[in-house]
Amino acid sequence: MLELPDIEILRENLASRTSERMVREVRLLWDGLLGSGSSPVSALLGQRVHTFVRKGALLALATERGAHLVIDLAPWAWMWHGASAHAATRTTALVIGLDDGNDTRIIVPGPRRTAQVWLADDPMDVPLWAGLGPDPLDEEFTWEAFRKALRAGRRRVKEILTDPRVAPGIGDAYADEVLYRVAISPLRYSHTLTADEGQALWRAVPDTLSRAIEALRERTQGELFEKEIRDFLQMHGKAAMPCPRCSTPIAEVRYDDRVTHYCPRCQRGTPRA
Ligand SMILES: [Zn+2]
Repeated sequence: MLELPDIEILRENLASRTSERMVREVRLLWDGLLGSGSSPVSALLGQRVHTFVRKGALLALATERGAHLVIDLAPWAWMWHGASAHAATRTTALVIGLDDGNDTRIIVPGPRRTAQVWLADDPMDVPLWAGLGPDPLDEEFTWEAFRKALRAGRRRVKEILTDPRVAPGIGDAYADEVLYRVAISPLRYSHTLTADEGQALWRAVPDTLSRAIEALRERTQGELFEKEIRDFLQMHGKAAMPCPRCSTPIAEVRYDDRVTHYCPRCQRGTPRA
């Protein structure tokens, strides 16, 4: 699943390719892509692309006139950019043709066609965007807000980290990386964390994400990609492999549709009820 660092790299690489280009064609090839309440995407015609912006794992194409095409790629869609001469494939859901002979396309492979877009003047008019908590790389991602989330109710720390109202853009992979970094068990209940542990966790969120963005930037070299690049992760996806710190085999826990990987030795902490 695409998470914040993947989307940030897509944002950078799409912005550099499309900035100041005029939209000369819009083709919606899969109607299901259009979210409810959206303006017709044809309204993009004749508008000039300003840039791409991001909040959590949501992306938005912003035009110079101030329109925003909010794009939710999760969990299986991706963006393609290349010469308009290439025929659209059957997994192409939306084609945005630009005046330099290139297209930006949204590719949604079946059968789980869950990606959506909404065209609105203000991205805050799109409920999914408006409902997200502060972006973890923004200064609005404050200790006060995070502490409040840790103390609100009985939830495991992994649940808090993957809650889009608390830290949007974090899924299983980066939650596992953040928790490994601060040696906190994903099974801990958040209200059992000390203030020091809570603060370390809060700091590790932007830290881990920023490092991942750097690693991805190095690996993609300005190119778009079609699949998450995760080779630099230390925990997630490494079940039964030795922990990089202590060599204990990495444990896997599955619950609530989630896969969690952690080191049972480095990330102790009683999973108290
Ligand atoms: Zn370990």
